[in-house]
Amino acid sequence: MSELVKISKTQFENVYQCEFNDGTTRLCTKNLAPGFSVYGERLFKVEGIEYREWNAFRSKLGGAILKGLKQNPIVKGTKVLYLGAASGTTPSHISDIVELEGKVYGVEFSPRVVREFLLVAQHRPNLFPILADARFPQYYRTLVEDVDVLYVDIAQPDETDIAIYNARFFLKENGYMLLAIKARSIDVTKEPTEIYEMEVNKLKEANFDVLQVVQLDPYDKDHAMVLSKYKG
Ligand code: SAM
Repeated sequence: MSELVKISKTQFENVYQCEFNDGTTRLCTKNLAPGFSVYGERLFKVEGIEYREWNAFRSKLGGAILKGLKQNPIVKGTKVLYLGAASGTTPSHISDIVELEGKVYGVEFSPRVVREFLLVAQHRPNLFPILADARFPQYYRTLVEDVDVLYVDIAQPDETDIAIYNARFFLKENGYMLLAIKARSIDVTKEPTEIYEMEVNKLKEANFDVLQVVQLDPYDKDHAMVLSKYKG
């Protein structure tokens, strides 16, 4: 079993790198819910502070950071609307990053996974699970305030349209969107790069400045994370 030898800051606020005695490194975040592991990730205590390993093979934001994301708009205090929260793996790391000054509203339409997400949120006062279909933001508009960041990972063929529709409801002017695109969910006959370009064009037409497209292989094959800024 490898042992932690060093923990250091990264260029991103509240995102750390841990180094092990076998030479491997991982991302990690400070655990907002000490003692609780969300998806079997390892916990480490250093000088009284507990950190959680952030597995980039289980989280597209983690993968995007390791693949060269230039800017992470999610920092301490950020308010995030997260579409496709599933059982809370990535939302839990975002909850660590934004700390108690921030909020993470997590929309998920599968009752089975929402049950698991609720267990994660029990120990995290800044995480708000919402059982709803992201196609119909009007059903949760009274539960969600305007947000600084919209994070979308729903793997639907019309995901970009759903993301744009939610942005119009909730994303502040000059707010950021992180959109995880699964090429194979959109069109299996086209090259992933062709699909990323199509989706990027939709964002541009909807008044987003596209800042970066990060391909997530090998963490997620045929996936990309698109960072954009909403001009309102
Ligand atoms: N983002 C999660 C993470 O990194 O921990 C993984 C998300 S998983 C790839 C996609 C999730 O989106 C699934 O849990 C699925 O049930 C959910 N989903 C798909 N379509 C949805 C919709 N229209 N509304 C809400 N959730 C949806």
